[in-house]
Amino acid sequence: MDGKSVRMYSCGPTVYNFAHIGNLRTFTFVDLLRRVLAARGYTLNHVMNITDVDDKIIRDATKAGKSLTEFTRHYEAAFLDDIAELRLQQPEKLVRATEHIPDMVSFIEQLMAKGIAYESQGSTYFSINKFPGYGKLSHKDMGGLKSGARVDSDEYDKENASDFVLWKAKKEGEVFWETPIGDGRPGWHIECSCMAMKHLGETLDIHTGGIDLQFPHHENEIAQSEALSGKPFSRFWLHSEHLSVDWTKMSKSLGNIYTLRDLKGMGYTPEALRYLLASVPYRKKLNFTFDGLKAAQTSIERLRNYQLRLETAQFGSGLNAALEERSAQAAKTFDESLDDDLNTAEALAAVFEFVRDTNSAMDAGEFLAGNIAGARQLLAKFDAIFDVLQAKQEAGGISDAEVEQLVAERTAAKKARNFKRSDEIRNQLAELGVILEDTKDGVRWKRK
Ligand code: AMP
Ligand code: ZN
Repeated sequence: MDGKSVRMYSCGPTVYNFAHIGNLRTFTFVDLLRRVLAARGYTLNHVMNITDVDDKIIRDATKAGKSLTEFTRHYEAAFLDDIAELRLQQPEKLVRATEHIPDMVSFIEQLMAKGIAYESQGSTYFSINKFPGYGKLSHKDMGGLKSGARVDSDEYDKENASDFVLWKAKKEGEVFWETPIGDGRPGWHIECSCMAMKHLGETLDIHTGGIDLQFPHHENEIAQSEALSGKPFSRFWLHSEHLSVDWTKMSKSLGNIYTLRDLKGMGYTPEALRYLLASVPYRKKLNFTFDGLKAAQTSIERLRNYQLRLETAQFGSGLNAALEERSAQAAKTFDESLDDDLNTAEALAAVFEFVRDTNSAMDAGEFLAGNIAGARQLLAKFDAIFDVLQAKQEAGGISDAEVEQLVAERTAAKKARNFKRSDEIRNQLAELGVILEDTKDGVRWKRK
């Protein structure tokens, strides 16, 4: 890394449909990684591609009777909406494949000039025999490799290595570009090598993607990039494991593919999905269930209630030194867990243990006013990464600060025995979807 800046490339979405929760798991992992790096003081220089031309896109755009651009922009916008709702930070640069065609052609021409790529029937292929390091990422045994075996498809064979297509000859009725290497369109693998190197240089610090991309996509990226530059392509490769539903692969025939829109339609919040996706360390398989999603919602509510208790309850004066030590310890464990290859499960456990212990201390009157700051700091540390504490503000609705103000006014009205006013405020908030609950520690509120 050059000083404190991280050059990171993430394989982005193929925009021919709405992203499913498996895709969103991978992008949530990337968001967590970004936030942890930022929390450690790194500046991010992060690029993500939008794959807006490939076999499936062309097939489905044709079926829909739309131009490639019209079709892909629709799903690109939907993707950006989804990631915003999930509170995923946007990379510094989002780059579209179709806007880099001349760069890809030049890349391929250079590989041809080096004798590593060859033309056959109007298409251009990468000769993997010419790149001795082929297979080093996925540790595939390339013993059964058939010299000259070729694949054209973007839907790739996960078992067998073969020469892969860099440039595909034009097919009747399909979109194509007129270029010096022939009329056609780019293969999928060249997109990422080309855009990563154009925007980030010859060697990246981190490259991410879902585990299914490790072979052959990332293996092919390494081959293309290193064959061209002679330098290592990426210092670290981080792959997130897959999400399954009820331990089964998501598939159309099983009807178990969910999108964020589906879940919202069922009444779940984007925060609940964000929390659930973030709670399982990225290298572990994540089995999605609706019970898990409900549990995620409950966990968020516990933390929001705790935060409200911190803000509104009356605590005795002074500082409980043991509890202060406890919050410092929880913060340390939280950081160390994330530094341990993003162990989010342990980081969350540290927060919940602290919440449980300090809630008990509050019940027992042992939590003092001087302990509020430490607890708040831990919540802030948590939320800088997990980002679920703040409820979404509906457009035209009422902000948290405004709710707090009305709640304080109602408490004052009640104290002054002005029950007419306090009831008015309760009703006003109810109409705005805010429910009040009087507890022995004061008033708590939540949005419906
Ligand atoms: P795609 O839009 O198909 O190009 O995929 C976008 C990202 O989602 C890639 O990094 C894939 O590896 C990842 N991905 C696809 N399916 C899953 C899944 N079931 N669980 C986690 N990540 C996935
Ligand atoms: Zn890629």
